Amino acid sequence: MHRRFFIGASVSLAASSALAQGEVGGQANRTPVRFTLAGALEQGSLAMGSAPPGSLVALDGRPLRVTADGHFVFGFAPDQTKPSLVTVRYPDGGGDSRSFAPTVRQYEIQRVSGLPQNTVTPPPEVQARIAHEAETIYLARLSDSSGGDFLSGFDWPAPGIESGVFGSQRIDNGVAMSPHYGVDMAAPVGTPIRSPADGVVAISDDYYLDGGFTLIDHGQGVSTCYLHQSSRLVRAGESVQRGQRIGLIGATGRATGPHLHWAMNWFQVRLDPSRSTRKPKPDPL
Ligand SMILES: [Zn+2]
Repeated sequence: MHRRFFIGASVSLAASSALAQGEVGGQANRTPVRFTLAGALEQGSLAMGSAPPGSLVALDGRPLRVTADGHFVFGFAPDQTKPSLVTVRYPDGGGDSRSFAPTVRQYEIQRVSGLPQNTVTPPPEVQARIAHEAETIYLARLSDSSGGDFLSGFDWPAPGIESGVFGSQRIDNGVAMSPHYGVDMAAPVGTPIRSPADGVVAISDDYYLDGGFTLIDHGQGVSTCYLHQSSRLVRAGESVQRGQRIGLIGATGRATGPHLHWAMNWFQVRLDPSRSTRKPKPDPL
């Protein structure tokens, strides 16, 4: 009943939001709104909202989880051009609905050669294993846990040279791959990787393409993962704290040299973790 009422309310609010179409940040609206949205507000970034406690929030007409103190989160897809509609129903009645169009990014084209050919075109006998591992990751990213560990922002998980950027189109050994949805930090094997925020380990395993792999759930669909580790120091189900060592940098799986591939998701939406960091990138070792 609760949910039916809310959806009904959001439809009528959406009708009054036409004036706000295309505006970003909520600051320039003709009427003041009582919720805020923070973040890079560009393609492939995490948007963090704040509304009066007890508010109900919908994204494009679907309810979003809201923390007890009124925080909510969602992501803009890497290729998203249409605005996201955020509708907030306040506990005292009334509400606001605003559209937020992400800033469009220009992504790089990156050519990588010298990769082991059996990882660029994996042999048929490992296809089932790769599919199973992708499915496991997909399922972990469906989790909508109530935690709000993402709220205090993220730290860089390791020092290193940023050797790969988010969204670049990779051409590996001449074969066009899916875009690079992560940040690569090149550093020596054994360099500690630290959790960028509090969270709960959802996966810690050795995968064919990803190598030593860890996925951390930070709540409300926000997760980060760590690839190519030489050693994993945490187990699935374990709670981790910001700054805790979770693994060591390596070159396992599909990697040309030692580096950390750091990725962030909001559910299945790929995000650029470098856009959610609260401090500058640490210097390379
Ligand atoms: Zn990478």
